[in-house]
Amino acid sequence: MIQNSKNQHHTAPPWAFCEVPVFPGYPRIKRFLDRYRMDDAFRKAFHEDPRSVALELGVDLPPEDLGKFIDPRYVGAASDGTSERPPVSPIDSPGELLEFLDLRDRQQAERIRRRDGLGPTHGDLAAWRRRQIARCRLQLPTVFYESIMHGPFAIELSSGCSAGCWFCAVSAEEFKGHFPYRPNEATMFRGVLEALHGLLGTEFAREGVMYWATDPLDNPDYEHFLDDFILEFGRAPTTTTSLAAIDLDRTQRLLERISREPCWFQRFSIVKKGDVARILDRLSPEETVNVDFLPAFSKLQPLTRSGRALEVAMRQDERGQNAPAQLLDQESTCACTTGFLLNLVDRTVKLISPHPATPDAPHGYLEFGTRTFTDPESFSRAIHDLARSVGEPCLNPEDVVEVPYGLRVTEDDPGVIAVHGQSCTLRLDHPAASKMLVDRLGPPTPVGMLAREAFDPQGSAQIFDLLNQLHHHGALMRSEEGTSSE
Ligand code: SF4
Repeated sequence: MIQNSKNQHHTAPPWAFCEVPVFPGYPRIKRFLDRYRMDDAFRKAFHEDPRSVALELGVDLPPEDLGKFIDPRYVGAASDGTSERPPVSPIDSPGELLEFLDLRDRQQAERIRRRDGLGPTHGDLAAWRRRQIARCRLQLPTVFYESIMHGPFAIELSSGCSAGCWFCAVSAEEFKGHFPYRPNEATMFRGVLEALHGLLGTEFAREGVMYWATDPLDNPDYEHFLDDFILEFGRAPTTTTSLAAIDLDRTQRLLERISREPCWFQRFSIVKKGDVARILDRLSPEETVNVDFLPAFSKLQPLTRSGRALEVAMRQDERGQNAPAQLLDQESTCACTTGFLLNLVDRTVKLISPHPATPDAPHGYLEFGTRTFTDPESFSRAIHDLARSVGEPCLNPEDVVEVPYGLRVTEDDPGVIAVHGQSCTLRLDHPAASKMLVDRLGPPTPVGMLAREAFDPQGSAQIFDLLNQLHHHGALMRSEEGTSSE
């Protein structure tokens, strides 16, 4: 039974969501919300007889209070912590609703603290990551910007993916095989983790994940790799899967294993409506307290306009089937890594960063270089080389620079340059800001040529300084870095 007492934090079970401790009633309220969001029959039954349906789940709150939990302003359809916080007063709101809202605020604050507070210990790579975060701040709507962690690495343990999701934001190829956990491969894997650990530092490296255009559960040895990850970094990575319903025994064991470690959250995409009941009937509210369920059975509600979801939306649009307006209009991406993307089957490593999905970057990220490797030593050399290749923090006269996709530069007032993004504007007060310079910014142009626009050496130095500031703030990028993710 749920009791509305904040004091219960002291006796709370050791559940935590996103490493933020949760109050005792949270698992059951979360289960109520998961059911309500994903299960049509449950929603219908709840509206017919709210009290007994809720009680059956172990949620002992009056229906009018439960109504507050399902108010879209409170919980939103998304789990990204971006829906509005309603004006609730402690006097007329149940304690657990306030705790629920507080929890969401704390989770979001923790997410942002980690994104902004952590970074590679390798200084040049850290500066590069900060520039990419600043670029994304300008290029993406706030809702996407705030939900992206810019994590350190993503390891693919298979080639392709068997799930074939219609919404796959990275258009995963057909499954061709997995990276087995045999002695040589396990040595290689542990060496790769050590190399990442050394370059990125413990705090940041432990934010890595082991999926991308692959599903972790396609690899029958995933749990062994997970154990090694935990051994190396002292925490479990997020496991994102669309295959949770295939083998519920395995899924249950996996959640149990992860629950013994510090972790962020696990994310299950539910592809078939029938899987909602199968999963929720089998796994308890406590077992799924850290599972973020993403219902993905309606082609009218894709999560982002990227990869296959974008193709589906465009086909719907051609047929006049009204893809949701925001899908085609809003810049978006599913990519969450500003760091290394490596595949252990084909032994490649890339440096990537999110970008709005466009025809030039259909999977919602840019690539900043690719290397191959054969063993842990060559892997270590490869990632250091990639870090060096993007590491030059200051522009050189011979660098060719351009304004990133979707940004517009204007001279607002004399001496103020403004860079207009999706949901914010960067303003720089600078003596070199001029209409003439603004008119030249946009397409790829050498820095030296832009600086020579000035009439005297001092003016030239000032333009050079302004260009460096724009670069530092993600409003200018070197043209040779960041190519399509095709
Ligand atoms: S969304 Fe994930 S599970 Fe689905 S096809 Fe893409 S990579 Fe595979």
